[in-house]
Amino acid sequence: MKTQRPNGILYILISGFMIAFVGALLFLWIFFSSMRAMHQTTRDLYEHPYAVTNAALQLKTSLYQIRSSLLFATLAQSKGQALQDTIQFIRDQESLLEKNIRIIASSYSGDKQQISKLQAELQALYHIRAAILEKLQTGHYVEADRIIEINGSPKFVEIAKLTESVLAFAQQRANAYVSESQKQLEGHTRKGLMYATLLLTLFLIVSVVLVWRMYRLHAEVDKFAFTDFLTGIANRRRFMFELESEIRRSQRYGSPFSFAMVDIDHFKKINDRYGHLVGDLVLQNFCLKCVSALRTSDMIGRLGGEEFGILMPMTDLHEAARVIERLRSEIDHSVVTENGQQIHYTASFGLVASSHHHLDLSLTQMMKSADAALYNAKQQGRNRVYIANGSL
Ligand code: GH3
Ligand code: MG
Ligand code: MG
Repeated sequence: MKTQRPNGILYILISGFMIAFVGALLFLWIFFSSMRAMHQTTRDLYEHPYAVTNAALQLKTSLYQIRSSLLFATLAQSKGQALQDTIQFIRDQESLLEKNIRIIASSYSGDKQQISKLQAELQALYHIRAAILEKLQTGHYVEADRIIEINGSPKFVEIAKLTESVLAFAQQRANAYVSESQKQLEGHTRKGLMYATLLLTLFLIVSVVLVWRMYRLHAEVDKFAFTDFLTGIANRRRFMFELESEIRRSQRYGSPFSFAMVDIDHFKKINDRYGHLVGDLVLQNFCLKCVSALRTSDMIGRLGGEEFGILMPMTDLHEAARVIERLRSEIDHSVVTENGQQIHYTASFGLVASSHHHLDLSLTQMMKSADAALYNAKQQGRNRVYIANGSL
C-alpha cells in the first residue's frame, strides 16, 4: 500500500512535466515561426522595394558608360579592333540598360508616363548612338564629335535627369515602405510573443489545476481504498499491510509489538433487538472508544463485520495486556444511548505478542494465534482478554 502513494505522485509529476514540456515546445515553435517570418520579411524588404532604385542606379551607370565610351572612341579616333571592342561594350551596356528599364517599368509605382517618356528618350538615344558609330566606322571623327556635341550630350543630360527623378521617387517610396514594414514587423513580433506567453501561462495554469485535481483524486481514491466506510478507520487491507510491516520491522530490529483481535459479543442480538442502524452506531462507538484508549502510534482496523484488529508497535505483552484490559473494562462500563434507549455491549479480545513468536514470526501464524486466543476468550464466557500461550 505504501508503495502505491509515491508511485501515484511520480505519475502525477511525470504528467505535469509532460504537459509543461508540450507547453515549452509550443512556445519554441511560435517563437521560431515568428523569427522565420521576420527573416522572410527582411529579405522581401531588400529584394522588392529597392529593385526599382537599384535598376535606376544601374541604368544611370550604363548611360554614363555608353556616353564616355563614345567620347573616348571619338577623341582617340578608334578604328579596327579598338572600335569593335567599343561597339561590343556599348551593346552589352545597352542590353543591361534594357533589362533595367524592364524592371523599372514593371515595378515603378510613380507616374507611369515618366517611364514611357524614359523609354522613348532611350530609343531616340539609340538612333543618335547609331549615327555616331556610323561616323566613327567611316572615319568621320569630327562629324561624330559634332553629333555628340549637338545631339548626344543634351539627350544624355535629359535621360539622366529623368532617371534621377525616377530614382528619387523610388528611393522615397522604398524608404517609406521599409519603415512601415519594420513597424508592422515589430508589431507582429510583439503580438506573437505576447500570444505565446499568454498561451504558455494558460497552459501552465491548466497544468497546475489538472495536476492538483489529479493529486486530490489520487488522495481520495487512496483514502477510499484503505479506509473503512462505516467507521472511518483502516480497512482490512490496510491493517494487514501495517501488521506485515510491523512483523518485518520486528524481525529486522527485534522490536517488540502486540496484536489483539477483537470481536463484539452477541452482536447479532444487538442487531436483532435494536435494528441494523443501531448496530452500526455500536460499531462506531466501539471505534471511538478504541481511538481514545490507544496511543496515536497504535492502530485499529476493521477486519470484517464486528471484528477488529489492534496493533500496538513497541509494546510488550505486559503493557499491551494492561491497555487492552482497560479498553475492555471501559466498554463494559459504558452504554450507547440512542432514541432514549441505553445499549450495553461487551467485546472479547485475543491478544498475542511478538515475543511469543520469535521463532516463527509470520502474518499467518500471528493471525492464527490471535484467532485462537479470541476463540478461547469467547469460549470462556466472553467480555474478556485472552492471551495466546497463557492467560491473565
Ligand atoms: P459472538 O459473541 O459469538 O461474536 O456472536 P455474534 O452475534 O457477535 O456473532 P455472529 O458472527 O453470529 O454475528 C455477527 C453479526 O454482525 C452478523 C452480522 O449481521 C452483523 N454485522 C456484520 N457487519 C455489520 C455491519 O456493518 N453493521 C451491522 N449493523 N451489523 C453487522
Ligand atoms: Mg461477535
Ligand atoms: Mg464475529
